[in-house]
Amino acid sequence: MNVPQSSPGSRLDNYVDRYAARTAGMTASEVRALFAVASRPEVVSLAGGMPNIDALPLDAVADTVARLVAERGTVALQYGSGQGDETLRGQICDVMRLEGIEAHPDDITVTVGSQQALDLVTRVFIDPGDVILAEAPSYVGALSTFASYQADVVHVAMDEDGLIPEHLENAITAVRAAGKRIKFLYTIPNFHNPMGVCMSAERRARVLEICRRADLLIIEDNPYGLLGFDGEPMRALRADDADGVVYLGSFSKTFAPGLRVGWAVAPHAVREKLVLAAEASVLSPPVFSQMTVSAYLETQPWRSQIKTYREMYRERRDAMLDALRTCMPPGTSWTNPAGGFFVWVTLPEGLDAKAMLPRAVTARVAYVPGTAFYADGFGASSMRLSFCYPTPERIREGVRRLATVISEELEL
Ligand code: PMP
Repeated sequence: MNVPQSSPGSRLDNYVDRYAARTAGMTASEVRALFAVASRPEVVSLAGGMPNIDALPLDAVADTVARLVAERGTVALQYGSGQGDETLRGQICDVMRLEGIEAHPDDITVTVGSQQALDLVTRVFIDPGDVILAEAPSYVGALSTFASYQADVVHVAMDEDGLIPEHLENAITAVRAAGKRIKFLYTIPNFHNPMGVCMSAERRARVLEICRRADLLIIEDNPYGLLGFDGEPMRALRADDADGVVYLGSFSKTFAPGLRVGWAVAPHAVREKLVLAAEASVLSPPVFSQMTVSAYLETQPWRSQIKTYREMYRERRDAMLDALRTCMPPGTSWTNPAGGFFVWVTLPEGLDAKAMLPRAVTARVAYVPGTAFYADGFGASSMRLSFCYPTPERIREGVRRLATVISEELEL
């Protein structure tokens, strides 16, 4: 057989006419291309959304892992159930009760991060050309998944109170009038990625009502729900409609992303399909990771650890908002997140965040241009800034540098 050769760095792709049509939607995200540049130490990266696990007590993790291997190693290192570890599924029910969800362990599918849950849900529901409604803007990783299944994403406007119900109604009517099939609404109601805002309680009720009337499934993606800086967690959409909502959760932000443990809670019939899709994909989610999370939740003060995470992120959020207020030129606006990782900044009229990025990187600061969060090229006047990873001092320095770049752009 004549095997095509390629050398590292070669741009020739001898397989190009053999790929499946769905690969057309698989392009490197702007975030990904940025990581290489933004990881240089002299650059303050406000781009990546990596959780800061400096607050994770590694000795407690080491202790948990050592005991797991010593006491239950032959189970932890074996294949497991496609649906996930039963003990962990019970503990996940306890976690979700904090957001008003009453679930049974059997409703839950454990996944390789909530990213795999997104993949499974999309695989189970989407045929090429099906429409997914998603907030404008929306999570870049979800948009990549939707693109890889050739979904047609229709964005629905949002503001500081989340998805705008009237726009949702109009979008449903318009898409259906055009003869297209909407498979689900994808929403991030808490500490939205990238906008940082929450859907208000009133809007939650309206969105549920509209979707119920329109017979539209909701995918509620909620990795940041427990990372609010003030008060109690907000009530999940799933808490008020167990039949109409698939809820996705994750331990990436409340414990550690490297374990890759997330989950989906779905109506029974959907749950069965998700497990079949998961088994075809990974046989079982990693038992070792699941048992580590489970043992940690059982033996360590996990809830007080979440408080430590919240305090750390709140201090960083404060540093970012303070620096924005002090440094940004008039005409720049931004959201005021009460939790999570992100601030959404909109530039003075006429400026383009994507075009400005190379100059920002030269000035040693990086961000993600708003266009990364839209399937349709919008968002050029905005950018996402993350406050989760850099120290408060670095955040202040990064915002100062960014403000200088924006001011210079205005003078051009
Ligand atoms: N959904 C949203 C909104 C996210 O921000 C992320 C991570 N950045 C994920 C899902 C995926 O997280 P994980 O797979 O680590 O659970």
